[in-house]
Amino acid sequence: MPIKSRIRTIPHFPKYGIQYRDITTLLKDPLGLRLVVYELFKRYTGQKIDKIAAIESRGFIIAAPLAVQLGVGLVPIRKPGKLPGEKVGHDYQLEYGSDRLELHSDAIESGEKVLLVDDLLATGGTALAGIHLIEKLGGALVECAFVVDLPDVGGRRRLEGEGYSVFALCEFE
Ligand code: IMP
Repeated sequence: MPIKSRIRTIPHFPKYGIQYRDITTLLKDPLGLRLVVYELFKRYTGQKIDKIAAIESRGFIIAAPLAVQLGVGLVPIRKPGKLPGEKVGHDYQLEYGSDRLELHSDAIESGEKVLLVDDLLATGGTALAGIHLIEKLGGALVECAFVVDLPDVGGRRRLEGEGYSVFALCEFE
């Protein structure tokens, strides 16, 4: 488990009862990011992909070297107020309250094949918001790729239940 063993768990962050899976220990290892990019490149090379859509902020770290390796464009999906141009937005529910993600309106052309990348899948709310933005612009989701899946939280079930494909490099219970 060369990737999983490099990810650290911090108990009670950001609040009591949460086991935070911290990829900074994976990233600081000289081989960590290279392993992640290598594994994702192996999965997606040769597939028809026009763009990678990366979710702020840890998704950017994974997606940027992968986009270079695959030779495809990268578009950032960002928290509100960060993108300077004309944009589309999607609001989604959190356990307490709501959140919003945005994407430049010209980031994706209608019909383009888009790979969504983030560091971790928990409830799937963030990824689904990203997918809605991609689809609003007429993009077609290839798959959602994560370093970590937390299957017990149910995000994979939720995404697959809506017909979307999910790939993760490791799982934590
Ligand atoms: P979801 O929307 O519940 O699937 O949560 C996924 C989003 O929250 C991703 O953008 C993650 O970066 C972040 N996240 C949730 N839990 C963790 C964790 O344990 N470690 C790192 N990021 C997390």
